[in-house]
Amino acid sequence: MRYVVRDAFRYAANCHCSGCRAATGSAFKPFAGIEREKLEITQGLDDLVIFGEEDANDTRCRLCGSFLFSVVRSGEYVHVAMGSLVDAPTIRPTHHIFVGSKAAWFDITDELPQFDEHAVSPA
Ligand SMILES: [Zn+2]
Repeated sequence: MRYVVRDAFRYAANCHCSGCRAATGSAFKPFAGIEREKLEITQGLDDLVIFGEEDANDTRCRLCGSFLFSVVRSGEYVHVAMGSLVDAPTIRPTHHIFVGSKAAWFDITDELPQFDEHAVSPA
């Protein structure tokens, strides 16, 4: 399937929580948050697989398995998995969250601020 989202993300971070690591099969998930209504499914609406509830879920493509976005914050926002974006967004992750539960085999090598649990953008 395909979605279109406005390049007007409110925040972005790298999440190291166990859920994001498992969902992405990776060390962490770079995600960018935006109001839900600014993301539109433009193709393949029937190909969505939703893990969770209408207002709190991970959404994937049934055909390729790709992790696309999560519906969060009582359904008002989506956290777009930045790896699913075709075009580069303007925003960049500004910090690391849930570093307290990061993978032991991965070392963070950048200078971005690190938080043991959740944190909003330090900016
Ligand atoms: Zn997470």
